Amino acid sequence: MKLRFSTSDEAFRVEVANWLRDNLCGEFESIRFRGGPGDEHSFVEERKAWERRLGEAGWTCIGWPRDWGGRAASIEQQVVFNEEYARAGGPGRIGHIGETLMGPTLIAYGSEAQKNKYLPSIRSGDAIWCQGYSEPSAGSDLANVKTKAVFDEQAQVWQITGQKVWTSLAHESQYCFVVARTDPQAKGHKGLGFFMLDMHQPGVTIRPIEQLTGTSEFNEVFFDSAVCSVEDIVGKPGEGWQVAMALLGFERGVSTLGQQMLFQNEFNDIVQLAKRNGADRDPMLRQRIAEAHIGLRIMRYNTLRVLSGSDEGELQAEGMIYKLYWSSWHRNLGKLAMDVMGSDSEILDAEPYELNRLQSMFLFTRADTIYGGTNQIQRNLIAERALGMPREPRGNN
Ligand SMILES: Cc1cc2nc3c(=O)[nH]c(=O)nc-3n(C[C@H](O)[C@H](O)[C@H](O)COP(=O)(O)OP(=O)(O)OC[C@H]3O[C@@H](n4cnc5c(N)ncnc54)[C@H](O)[C@@H]3O)c2cc1C
Repeated sequence: MKLRFSTSDEAFRVEVANWLRDNLCGEFESIRFRGGPGDEHSFVEERKAWERRLGEAGWTCIGWPRDWGGRAASIEQQVVFNEEYARAGGPGRIGHIGETLMGPTLIAYGSEAQKNKYLPSIRSGDAIWCQGYSEPSAGSDLANVKTKAVFDEQAQVWQITGQKVWTSLAHESQYCFVVARTDPQAKGHKGLGFFMLDMHQPGVTIRPIEQLTGTSEFNEVFFDSAVCSVEDIVGKPGEGWQVAMALLGFERGVSTLGQQMLFQNEFNDIVQLAKRNGADRDPMLRQRIAEAHIGLRIMRYNTLRVLSGSDEGELQAEGMIYKLYWSSWHRNLGKLAMDVMGSDSEILDAEPYELNRLQSMFLFTRADTIYGGTNQIQRNLIAERALGMPREPRGNN
């Protein structure tokens, strides 16, 4: 277990901090500390421009291999980067689905042609991706997808028809990766395909879903014979489940460390507010603030422990507790923020009558225990895969 950074990691830290100091300013000053949970809709164009600035300087996809434009950064360097990014107030990343999910999946499972076609625009910050997994009856039970992929022999393309839901950033995305059924007779995880679809084509309809925050970070997406070329399936038709699952593995990887630094910023805001409005003199609130601080430290050291336990940086079984832990912790942080605000938390009393950042954060944290795997499903995973307990009874799939 290594919980210290080496001299070269610290030199890397200085390099990152200097670059951020020199670049996250001027035209990008307005997006510092923006775009986090509940604030994803703000400064979208500026944040896209910021992605490109990061890309030009080689600060996207730093964990990718050099052959694909990354820096082959070690886990420790990725931690350092995320720490400095959050410390500098780096805005919520709009290219994260491409960088942390689609990119690593293509690097592991894609053909050379697919890598050549898609990786450069993710790395340069030009292409935004979204994730087309969930459907009205296939959320936790992802293997229940009904979206169909039918091969058109004449045109030699796949035609995708069906509905996805909760598709984050679909309205900003150029591409979507979609799990669809290639074999109508097959059930469960058999007979699925993993398709890469261009969102800017006839046959794709995006309908925003208004969230508690009043904004629409996610959408319903309807595919009506949307076209996918034969070159744009990752893995073989019918064997998409393995690819889809591998991608979820990346979702639970090192990017979680960046998220903790975002949490640290939110926590700091709450402490500052408590000092300003006197909430820090309430013993119960002081205790909850202390507990939140302890939780944040536990999260960080546990993640470092898990990541540094593997040379490849792959998560070990202990990593499975992470989603359960952070989502409950962050949901409680949202409640703490409201209690520290006191009665002000319930009112929008000044024009332009918008939610402030802590109010938006609180409302968005209601979803933390749902997306990326609900708490109930995480408990099942821990029981079955980490602890080796008997599998829960499942249906006919
Ligand atoms: C903010 C947000 C962003 C999202 N972004 C995306 C995205 O970009 N792309 C995408 O594809 N999806 C996205 N999702 C969808 C998300 O992945 C699903 O909401 C999640 O997988 C849960 O599925 P569901 O909503 O269908 O709930 P259901 O699966 O219907 O679950 C309902 C309830 O039943 C419980 N339950 C279900 N099965 C079991 C079981 N076997 N044992 C115990 N309890 C069970 C669940 O835990 C839950 O409490 C997003 C969701 C949110 C909230």
